Parts: sequence; structure tokens; C-alpha cells
Amino acid sequence: MKRSILLIEDNAQNRYLVTFLLEKDGYEVLSVEDGASGIEAARQRVPDLIVLDIQLPKMNGYEVARRLRHDERLRAVPIVAVTSYATPGDREKAMASGCTGYIEKPIEPETFAHAIRQIIATGAEGAT
Ligand code: MN
Repeated sequence: MKRSILLIEDNAQNRYLVTFLLEKDGYEVLSVEDGASGIEAARQRVPDLIVLDIQLPKMNGYEVARRLRHDERLRAVPIVAVTSYATPGDREKAMASGCTGYIEKPIEPETFAHAIRQIIATGAEGAT
């Protein structure tokens, strides 16, 4: 069975790129544009992994991650934060809010899917 990935990203270009890269790598991708929709979709589908943009309208990614972690069925699902905030402490902030991995924007087409594969392989312990 295909692994499923939920992508929460408000930027259409990034959504397109990430979906393309992950589908090419054999994943089934569902994408939504905001945190509330993301939480709803995660609860309904319990994906194998969540790719979470941090800069989202209304509810930011940190808050989305915290809420996902409060749902018992979603506690073990790896969450990969994707952010263009490049200030020191962002990774720590993402991890503190419940994210498992952290990938900096811009998305590198050459390495993105590989990074995702590694995070899936190492599960919720694999923070990188
Ligand atoms: Mn964004």
C-alpha cells in the first residue's frame, strides 16, 4: 500500500512542488491550505507523515503541531516542519511544538524526497 502524506501548505507553488516531488517518489499526497483543514484531514485519515508549513494564515504551524500532538491517534505520526524562518531557535521551537523533523525552505527538489524518506524510516524519533 502506498504511504500517505498530508501536506499543509498555503502557498500554491510550494504545494504543487512538494506534491509533485512526493508523488514522483511513490507517496499518496493529500494537500490542504490551512491549519484547521489540516487537523481535520489528519484526524480523518491518520496519514503516515505530515508535512507542515510553519507560516500559515490564521493558525501557524507551531499551533497546528501542538493540536495534532494532543490527538492520541496522531501522537506517533511524524510531523516535518517546513519553514523559511531562518533565525536561530526555529528548529527548537518546531521540535518543542511537537514536530519530528525540520526542513528549511526553499525546497530543494534534489534532496527533499530523500529527507522525507529518512524521516519516515526513523519514525517519530528521527529528528533531523
Ligand atoms: Mn506559508
